[in-house]
Amino acid sequence: MTRMALDSRVHQLLKSRFGYDQFRPLQEEVIASVLSQQDSFVLMPTGGGKSLCYQLPALLLDGLTLVVSPLIALMKDQVDYLKANGIPGEFINSTLSAVEVSQIHRRATLGQLKLLYVAPERLASPGFHDFLRAANPSLIAIDEAHCISEWGHDFRPDYRNLRTLRHSFPGVPIIALTATATEKVQADIISQLDLQKARVFLGGFNRPNLVYRVQRKDKAFPELLSLLRTHHNESSLVYCFSRRGTEELAQSLRDKGFPALPYHAGLDMDVRRETQEKFIHDQVLIIVATIAFGMGVDKPDIRLVVHYDLPKSLEGYYQETGRAGRDGVTSECVLFYSYGDKIKQEFFIDQMQDAPEQAEARRKLDQVVRYCELATCRRRFLLHYFDEQWEQTNCGGCDLCLDPKEDFDATVIAQKVMSVVVRTGQRFGAAHVIGVLRGSRAQRVLQSGHHQLSVYGIARDQTEEYLKQMVTLLIGHGLLQRTNSELPGLELTTVGWDFLRNDEKLVLSVPKKNARERAATSSVGGDLDQELFQRLRNLRRRLADEIGQPAYIVFGDFTLQLMARYLPQTREALARINGVGEVKLARFGDDFLGVIQAYVREQGLPEETTPAPLPYQPETAAPRVSTLEQTRALVAQKLSLEEIASKRGFTVRTIMGHLEQLISSGEELDIEHLMPSPERFSEMAAAFEAAGDLHLAPVQERLAGRYTYEELALVRAKLRQSQ
Ligand code: ADP
Ligand code: ZN
Repeated sequence: MTRMALDSRVHQLLKSRFGYDQFRPLQEEVIASVLSQQDSFVLMPTGGGKSLCYQLPALLLDGLTLVVSPLIALMKDQVDYLKANGIPGEFINSTLSAVEVSQIHRRATLGQLKLLYVAPERLASPGFHDFLRAANPSLIAIDEAHCISEWGHDFRPDYRNLRTLRHSFPGVPIIALTATATEKVQADIISQLDLQKARVFLGGFNRPNLVYRVQRKDKAFPELLSLLRTHHNESSLVYCFSRRGTEELAQSLRDKGFPALPYHAGLDMDVRRETQEKFIHDQVLIIVATIAFGMGVDKPDIRLVVHYDLPKSLEGYYQETGRAGRDGVTSECVLFYSYGDKIKQEFFIDQMQDAPEQAEARRKLDQVVRYCELATCRRRFLLHYFDEQWEQTNCGGCDLCLDPKEDFDATVIAQKVMSVVVRTGQRFGAAHVIGVLRGSRAQRVLQSGHHQLSVYGIARDQTEEYLKQMVTLLIGHGLLQRTNSELPGLELTTVGWDFLRNDEKLVLSVPKKNARERAATSSVGGDLDQELFQRLRNLRRRLADEIGQPAYIVFGDFTLQLMARYLPQTREALARINGVGEVKLARFGDDFLGVIQAYVREQGLPEETTPAPLPYQPETAAPRVSTLEQTRALVAQKLSLEEIASKRGFTVRTIMGHLEQLISSGEELDIEHLMPSPERFSEMAAAFEAAGDLHLAPVQERLAGRYTYEELALVRAKLRQSQ
C-alpha cells in the first residue's frame, strides 16, 4: 500500500471500527511509527487514548498483535470493547479454564484473532513462545510499561519476563506505553526491553476536561453530600487516608441515603472484586477507597474524584484525579484540605527509619501543601510540577480561575499579621501568631511572654477564622512562608520584607461569599437536552444489561451527549456522531434512533440539525451545575411546577426533566402536592399499566390527548417512585 493509501485506510478504520472522527494528539504519529515497523515508546496521560495506538495498527497488520497488560480486570474490559466494535480480540489469564485457553490458542494459530491480551506471567509458561511463533505475531504492545522498572512506583517482577520477547522475536516491532514515567524510568524501560532506535512520543500532562478544586475541610461531610448530590446518577470516587476511614465514611454516606461501598486492600479478594464489578456496571455509584483502588479499574465515566484526606504527593494526586473523565467529558476533582491533616501525615513521616526516604516524603508533602495554599491557577502549578510549560493565566478549570473574586485592601491587616510574625521571632506557627494577634490568654502565649509585646492584641476585633484565611492568603501570595524547622513556624519572604519596609499597598482577593453557584454548561458546547440525555442513558442501561456489559461499552456519555445535542434522526446522521462506528450503528443504532425520534415527535422539536462531521472536542473544563439541587429545594417547599419554572427562569418542561432525574436517582422527594385528582391519576396509571412507561406519546394517544405531557410525566414519576 502506498503511504497515502495507508493514511486514508487508517482514517477510514478510525471511523468505521472505533467510531471516532479525529485522532487525539500523538495517536496518528504513533500509529504511523508502528506501521513502519519501528519500536515506539509512548508516554501519554491517562485517558489520552493509548490503546488505539496498537488496536488500530493491529487491524492493518497481517498477523497477531500481542498485548501484555498486568491488570486482569482491565483486559476483559478492553476485549469486551473490541468485540462490541466487531474486532476479534481475546485474552488469556488465570480466570480461564484450560479448555478455553486451548480454544483461543487454536483460533490464534488459525489467524482468526487480531489481538490477544496476556498477563506477563504467561510469557514464562512452558510452550508459550512456541505457541506465539505459530500465531505469527506482527506487533507486541506492552501496556503499563513502567512496571518493568525498579525505579518506577509500581515494579512487577513478572515484567522482567518481557525481556525474552525481543530475543525470541527479533523482527517484531514493540510498542511500550505508560502514563507515568520520569526520564530515568523512560530510559530504563527502553533498555530493559532492548528497544531498537525507539521513537519516543511524549504527550502533555494537561487534562483539559478536569476541574480542580480545593475546599477547606471544616465542613467536609455536608460539602461532600452536596457534591454527591450534584453528581447524582454519576460515578464518584472518594479517597480516604486509612482503611478504617473508608469504612466509616461509606457507612455515614449510607446513613444519609447515598449507597456507597468501601474498598481497601484489607478486604477479602472476593469482596474487592465484587465491589469493582458493581462499580463498573453502575450498580453502585459511590466508592470510598484508599489508594489501593483504581489500578484495575478503567471506567471512563467517573465524574467526581474527591480527596477527603490530604494526598501524600502530587504524583499520587495527579494519578488518582486522572481516573476522572477519561472519556473527555467534564469531571470534577475536589480536595479537602486542612492544616491538621498535614500534621497528621507528618506524624507518619516522622516514624520513617530511612533518612533519605523521609526527606523525600517531606518534600513531596510540602508540595501538596503548597498546591492547597495557592492563590493562582492550580492547573498551572500541577503542570509546572511535572515540568510542563503552561503560560496561560486563566485555565478556566480550577476554583481559583473560575470562582468570582472580590478584591479588598489588605494593607493594614497584612502589616499586623506580619509584624506579629517578626516580633515573635519568626519561629511560631499560625495558631500562636493568631493567638497573639487576638490577645489570647492561652497558656502558651503567656508563657512565651508575648502578651507583653506592643503588638499583642492588635487584631482583637477579627475572628480566628478570618485571620487563618489571611495567613493562608499571605503564604499563597508569597509574602509569608512556612519555615523548614521541625515545628511549624512562619517567616517573612524577601517579598514580605519589601512590603513591610516600603509601606506598600496590598490588594488581595477572596472568593465572593455564596459564589459557589456554578454555571450550567455541558462538555459538548451549547445546549443539550437533559431529558433526552437521561432517556438515552436509560436505554443504554437496558441494552447493556441485556448483553451483560458495562454501560459504556454500548456508548460513552460523550456520544450520548452529542446525540442529545444534535438529535440525529436517520442512520446517516447518527453515523456522523462521534463514537458511533459501523458495528455499533448496526447493533444499537435503531434503538437509539427510536428514542430520539419519539422524543422529537413528542416535543415538537425541529428536524435534523446535525452538522457533519462532529469533531471530538470536549470543551475546556466547564463548571458544573447544582441546578437539580435548586429545583429539589423548591419542590420541597411545595411550589407548583409553574412557580418553580418562573422562579428559576426555565420552562415547565425543563423543571419536569429535573424532577424525573431526581426521582430516577432515588432521591426521596415528596411530590404529592403536584398530583392531579385521584380519578385522573388512576386513569393515567391504568394507561401506563397497559402501554408501558418508556414513552409518553403512546400513552397520550391511548388517552385521546386528554392529558398534557406534564401531567403524564408527573404521574409516571410518581408511579416510578412507588415502584
Ligand atoms: P489510556 O489507555 O491512555 O488511559 P484509553 O485508550 O483507555 O486511554 O482511552 C481513553 C478513552 O478515550 C476511551 O474511552 C477511548 O474510547 C477514548 N478515545 C481514544 N481515542 C479517541 C479518539 N481519537 N477520539 C475520541 N475518543 C477516543
Ligand atoms: Zn486555573
